Amino acid sequence: MDASDVQADLVNVLFTEEQIQERLRELAAEIESDYEGKDLLIVGILRGAVMVMADLARSFGRHLEMDWMAVSSYGSGTKSSGVVRILKDLDTDISGRHVVIVDEIIDTGLTLSWLTSNLASRSPASVEICTLLRKPEALTMPVDVKYVGWDIPNEFVVGYGLDYRERYRNLRDIGTLAPHVYS
Ligand code: IMP
Ligand code: MG
Repeated sequence: MDASDVQADLVNVLFTEEQIQERLRELAAEIESDYEGKDLLIVGILRGAVMVMADLARSFGRHLEMDWMAVSSYGSGTKSSGVVRILKDLDTDISGRHVVIVDEIIDTGLTLSWLTSNLASRSPASVEICTLLRKPEALTMPVDVKYVGWDIPNEFVVGYGLDYRERYRNLRDIGTLAPHVYS
């Protein structure tokens, strides 16, 4: 789906498919050089990070492993519920491993600060976070994010994995959802 297919639902297009691909290539290059000579496991957070994982992983020119976790923090609306639950855990034993958690967006930071300490308790060699987007509120939370695609305004965005009630994930671009869609 392109932005033109859902034009009436969007206030604007924040990032096009091309801009996203270019930024992910830059992030992959940065991670690649930081982890030179080390083995690397990237952990995608279902379901929103599926697109970021797929494109980020393919931008690497080296081997890595991929695993997935699913957590719930949001319910079905546009506000965080404040409760984090593991719906699907890793299949990989991460003790002694270098782990990069990959997510599509950090809003309050609640999900990732909880997840980072959860993974840190499993004795990995290291745990870092890579997120495509970060909202300003996240800056006030104790979550140390090493790789950020872009900081964005505090608005509800959809596309490229980001959903509103499970829709818009398959939009190629990222756009700000028009308030009339959710009010
Ligand atoms: P946090 O715990 O508040 O940082 O919430 C992170 C999760 O909330 C993300 O992984 C998304 O699933 C969801 N989320 C936060 N902001 C947005 C948004 O603007 N659009 C779609 N989903 C969002
Ligand atoms: Mg998510």
